[in-house]
Amino acid sequence: MSNEICQENMKMIVDTQRCKGCGLCTFACPKKIVEIEKQERNDKGYFYAKCIDQNQCISCTRCAIMCPDCAITIRK
Ligand code: SF4
Ligand code: SF4
Repeated sequence: MSNEICQENMKMIVDTQRCKGCGLCTFACPKKIVEIEKQERNDKGYFYAKCIDQNQCISCTRCAIMCPDCAITIRK
């Protein structure tokens, strides 16, 4: 429930438990606002991707299309 609340204004949402930290989405983003977490890992032990500036996201979906694990959702 708390996750849903904090995701309300987010355009780029990463399912952190699906992410394996491959970094492909970071190269795909034209705004360079996707980074791999350096501190926290998911339950599988992977550092996961995150959007560092939701305001700059243009909802182009490139990061989501690139992700081999379908871990990214984009809201328009
Ligand atoms: S939707 Fe586009 S601008 Fe937004 S984080 Fe993904 S690649 Fe970057
Ligand atoms: S492309 Fe997908 S699996 Fe790879 S780091 Fe990005 S969100 Fe995670």
